[in-house]
Amino acid sequence: MTGAQAITNRIIRCPRCSKSARYDITNKFRPFCSARCKDEDIVDWAEERYGIPDALTEQEDFPLELTPQDDRKS
Ligand SMILES: [Zn+2]
Repeated sequence: MTGAQAITNRIIRCPRCSKSARYDITNKFRPFCSARCKDEDIVDWAEERYGIPDALTEQEDFPLELTPQDDRKS
């Protein structure tokens, strides 16, 4: 069973917060370090998906003299 043992020693960097996280079956949030990091990543992904088409339709609906302000935080 040497093969299985090698896997349990793998340590990776969490793509969310850069903390070290175990990349094995005991870490069910892999490749993230915790449930919080995993959830935040999903939220980010969803906002990116739905944010883009929304901004495009908003611009078309507004008359030229009422240009909406770009209040995105970057
Ligand atoms: Zn993390």
